[in-house]
Amino acid sequence: MPGRTLADVEPTVAPEPALDPESLEPEEERPRLPGLSPSRASDYQQCPLLFRLRVIDRLPEPPSPAALRGTLVHAVLERLFDRPAGQRTPDAAADLLAPVWAELVAADPRATEVLDEGGEDGWFAAARALLETYFTLEDPNRLEPAERELPVRLVTEGGWEMRGIVDRLDVAPNGAVRVVDYKTGRSPREGFESSALFQMRFYALLLSRLRGRVPDMLQLVYLGDGVLLRHVPDERELAVIERRVAALWDSILDAGRRGEFAPRTSPLCDWCAHRALCPAFGGTPPPLDPDAVERALGVRPES
Ligand code: SF4
Repeated sequence: MPGRTLADVEPTVAPEPALDPESLEPEEERPRLPGLSPSRASDYQQCPLLFRLRVIDRLPEPPSPAALRGTLVHAVLERLFDRPAGQRTPDAAADLLAPVWAELVAADPRATEVLDEGGEDGWFAAARALLETYFTLEDPNRLEPAERELPVRLVTEGGWEMRGIVDRLDVAPNGAVRVVDYKTGRSPREGFESSALFQMRFYALLLSRLRGRVPDMLQLVYLGDGVLLRHVPDERELAVIERRVAALWDSILDAGRRGEFAPRTSPLCDWCAHRALCPAFGGTPPPLDPDAVERALGVRPES
């Protein structure tokens, strides 16, 4: 199977879940505190104004065809494990596309408006191709995930929250934990994996603080080009991530108190849904609402 291993350790297949469910209680009932997910942390690192428009102003963004396909493929892979081992086949995955798509459309009828120019057939064919690639990377019949789409939330010592959703958690009979994330895009070039690993280390940090054990492996499954990226985390690097995320949150709070979220241009601006509002491109963002800042960050602009 194609793959790149960032550390010399093979993943452990988990025929039986062995995780203590109490240790990963998602606490979905608990009120949401100001805080960060890996995606929002990446937003701020990419562009403070983008972070503001998404997190504070909460401006809607039309889903892109690629993002919608990613949602569909994630949902199909999640649902595939409802079937018993032995029945998790490429055909079974393909059969799930239509009903899962119908659920997505029922939840948001605008979904049908964003299909590729190639039309529905081409869009579904691309989703099927991603699922076929999945079967070249893993045999889901040899896996019994302990968790799928697991929400994880951790209140930090500073009283703010780190949170995220783990695509899949495998636990081996010996207790070894593997954190798995599906990507429908292509893998990063050799030497450029650190940004991709940031999200996984973030999850590893959350899980290690919640369970008192560093996960044994982080695995990114790139369906765009059929690559597995694996990494064995350790406590030292998780401590680095913890300090880095805390410093990032401090920087965000500082921006909130100053009421300043400056645009930071990059090639990624070509994909920004808020470009028309961006001063770097001649636009004007909406006035900053102090109440919205407080709701999102727990601090108010000082002037
Ligand atoms: S267009 Fe670029 S600089 Fe402007 S908000 Fe979007 S990401 Fe930031």
